[in-house]
Amino acid sequence: MTKDLVLIVEDDPAISKMLHYILKQDGYKCIISENLKNALRTFQTHNPEIILLDLGLPDGDGKSFIKTVRKETTIPIIIVSARHDEHEIVAALDAGADDYVIKPFSDIELSARIRSAQRRSIGVSPSHDTIVCGDIILEHDALVAYKKGVALNLTPTEFNLLKYFMTHPNQVLTHANVLKEVWGVGYQNEMHYLRTFVNSLRKKIEDDSSRPHYIVTQMRVGYRFNCENEKL
Ligand code: CA
Repeated sequence: MTKDLVLIVEDDPAISKMLHYILKQDGYKCIISENLKNALRTFQTHNPEIILLDLGLPDGDGKSFIKTVRKETTIPIIIVSARHDEHEIVAALDAGADDYVIKPFSDIELSARIRSAQRRSIGVSPSHDTIVCGDIILEHDALVAYKKGVALNLTPTEFNLLKYFMTHPNQVLTHANVLKEVWGVGYQNEMHYLRTFVNSLRKKIEDDSSRPHYIVTQMRVGYRFNCENEKL
């Protein structure tokens, strides 16, 4: 197994030490930067394969760093953040970060997030005609989706929303992002559209829409579409 290099950007030594410990057990090499200036230099000189980024750093909040990295590469950027920073998390995701973990997190959770983000960045798959997630099948060209083999009676917007979710499985999608991608530029703040359509879609695809299995709410951030045939 090749040892991917992870750049850890974190000013709290206790946390960077813990991240390093977890990542080393998973077979990654690590390099730690305590501030953004140093992180930028390390990014340019070491070409890391993954970045773990704390948002509260001594010399800034990390969004400009995400934008700089995104201009050059699509490597996974995972935010490691405190719970009260939800606005910052959303801004970071919109700036191009892939996912986030909230402190305190478990080693299992962190490993799963990293593997999942890596798989996505490697296998940004060419458009397949058919996408399968659990017992849901979506056929692009036929504009039809099935659950347990039975065609779902979806409106065009519900279909587009489901298609967007199914083509971006197991990753956090911010409200603004889903609105922009499904409804278009200019709709980023129309939260009630999204909530309404997510609710109606849940009624059609979930076994129990009050306890959704597929479209999971990420409190104040957005949604994550669970796709289980992709093994974590
Ligand atoms: Ca910090």
